[in-house]
Amino acid sequence: MVQIGFIGWRGMVGSVLMERMQAENGFSGFEPIFFTTSNVGGQGPALGIDVPPLQDAYDVKLLTSLDIIISCQGGSYTKEIYPEVRKQGWQGYWIDAASTLRMAEDSIIVLDPVNRTVIDNAVGSGIKTFVGGNCTVSLMLMAISGLIESGHVEWISSMTYQAASGAGAKHMKELISQMAALGNISTALLKNPATTAIALDQVITSELRKDSFPTENFSVPLAGSLIPWIDTLMESGQTREEWKGQVETNKILQTGKTISVDGLCVRVGAMRCHSQGLTIKLDKDIPIEEIYQMIEGANQWVHLVPNDKDSTLKYLTPSAVNGSLAIPVGRVRKMLMGPEYISVFTVGDQLLWGAAEPLRRILDIIRRK
Ligand code: NAP
Repeated sequence: MVQIGFIGWRGMVGSVLMERMQAENGFSGFEPIFFTTSNVGGQGPALGIDVPPLQDAYDVKLLTSLDIIISCQGGSYTKEIYPEVRKQGWQGYWIDAASTLRMAEDSIIVLDPVNRTVIDNAVGSGIKTFVGGNCTVSLMLMAISGLIESGHVEWISSMTYQAASGAGAKHMKELISQMAALGNISTALLKNPATTAIALDQVITSELRKDSFPTENFSVPLAGSLIPWIDTLMESGQTREEWKGQVETNKILQTGKTISVDGLCVRVGAMRCHSQGLTIKLDKDIPIEEIYQMIEGANQWVHLVPNDKDSTLKYLTPSAVNGSLAIPVGRVRKMLMGPEYISVFTVGDQLLWGAAEPLRRILDIIRRK
């Protein structure tokens, strides 16, 4: 029976992957083996199936006996172990959530509703390394691949509003701790109907600036604020998160024609949904109704939100989309710059389409090949 190793199954991306696999009856027809970097011999995930004790994620001999390895453990683990298993001549499939192998020549970035042909060709030609894409890139492509497929997109400027979860579990908790601190300091003021908004703001601002305000992970307040910087500085002046926009988009699509993608990536106080405001430059004036059809026809998860206030507030917010696979796309209109300029706003759960779901699906594709 095919043996599949799961590394990083209890982390944030890994546990969402476990949930999705369970929901889709994804644990049948193979033998799953669960690994750990911290608790060898411990108990594996509760999946309603027999799960043997946890194995050592650094046991290269055991890893190289598997048919498929799927890792959500993180970049340092991949950097250390992936070359080791390949050095042993291991020919199995390696599926990964970390960015480490994304730009490697012999890897494919997977987002099958968008690049199924690229994936099928790669599987057919013997590629064995498949990596999930950057969350904002995957969510953007899920939203507008229909438009991109038309061949009329010249460039995209993406302004992002990224959730705390993208930075990791500790950051999600810190965001809520920050909110709690702000709630605690303002409780009495809020109970008094005579409190002015200005008085409340003074108390909040002073709390945000206190040394005791919980900022160990983000370094600065996110609740009641935002952070216009994600990841490290690149030579171009972009952050690494911004740099990924163009390189990963074009690696996923592999159309042979480079689409420029650039913009600013900003962390906001959402939990696990990234939002993006896109400016899209087309090479010609396409009627807006055709644009709607292209966007909506791309895949079964994307849905067009009418450009009105009620629909936007109901369907196009992180709180509406959180925990779901829906990819709403709204605020679609021609911009004042000219009829070739389109605005789009889109929201997506970055732990689902932005991380775990493409991995679950590539595992399925490989198993069925
Ligand atoms: P994570 O939650 O930090 O989990 C990584 C590992 O940390 C776990 O597998 C676990 O390994 C260990 N760990 C230590 N204490 C833990 C605790 N209290 N609860 C759970 N796990 C704990 O990492 P992640 O955010 O899922 O990210 C994994 C990889 O996916 C990274 O490379 C990341 O860049 C990438 N990625 C993340 C996102 C995202 O939104 N977070 C999106 C796309 C890609 P042991 O069981 O071996 O101890």
